[in-house]
Amino acid sequence: MAYTCQDCGQESESASTITIYDEQGVEDRLRLLCPECYEEWLYSLKG
Ligand SMILES: [Zn+2]
Repeated sequence: MAYTCQDCGQESESASTITIYDEQGVEDRLRLLCPECYEEWLYSLKG
């Protein structure tokens, strides 16, 4: 089964689900990311 990345729009064999939080730290929504975008997101967390 292929997933469609919700960031870059590419299809990927494997995907990671992340949780986006709003400014108050409240769980906002889920996103499905391909491995590449997932790594970028991890980097953005660390600053
Ligand atoms: Zn992606």
